[in-house]
Amino acid sequence: MPAGNEPDIATNLEQIHERIARAAQRADRNPDDVTLIAVSKTHDRSLVEAALATGQRVFGENRVQEAQAKYPDLKAANSDLELHLIGPLQTNKAEDAVALFDVIQTLDREKLAKALVKAMDKLDRRPRCYVQVNVGEEPQKAGVLPEEADAFIRLCRDDYGLPVEGVMCIPPLEEAPAPYFALLRQIAERNGLSGLSMGMSGDYETAVELGATQVRVGTAIFGARPPQS
Ligand SMILES: *Cc1c(COP(=O)(O)O)cnc(C)c1O
Repeated sequence: MPAGNEPDIATNLEQIHERIARAAQRADRNPDDVTLIAVSKTHDRSLVEAALATGQRVFGENRVQEAQAKYPDLKAANSDLELHLIGPLQTNKAEDAVALFDVIQTLDREKLAKALVKAMDKLDRRPRCYVQVNVGEEPQKAGVLPEEADAFIRLCRDDYGLPVEGVMCIPPLEEAPAPYFALLRQIAERNGLSGLSMGMSGDYETAVELGATQVRVGTAIFGARPPQS
């Protein structure tokens, strides 16, 4: 890629932090209560290194294999790097995910809960978990349905003993996200969960106004991604 097309990651991150701070102020929130997850999927590790150089420490990837190719030595060199899995997790990759990720945001079915417990016991490593909620009830999307969320959270936390920290959602693309963010927040509050992972490049400010504790931002930091399956 010609140098002129390289994203200016330092400037992008600075602007996003400013916008998060302003959105937090509008909602009478402390900006420090919002973690910016830099979503590096499909991007070269050199871009991750550029973000690391600015002080960014929290990253997200949506595929276990891609993260395995990119992150182990970055994690070895930066002991405070925190890696979040934000894409669907197959049960046969549960052990790989537990070994590499610090947070797993896509817990959405009992079979996966079981596989994660087994992997955590075996590896003696307990990544924090988020239950993914399919807030728009879209057939093609992962996540538990909103009306099943309370029971599933109880199952994961109380029956399986998983370290469930919060809930995560990806609202429908074509609709205003605010009502879906508000719905996710209600689910977190009535289940006593402190973590709210919501908001992407196009809507993270709205998400912060509605209580997000984690926003997952890719394009606005690293630039457009090549088309992906
Ligand atoms: C890719 C992805 C993001 C980041 O999306 P952008 O629009 O590029 O900011 C956030 N969350 C999930 C689950 C993703 O898969």
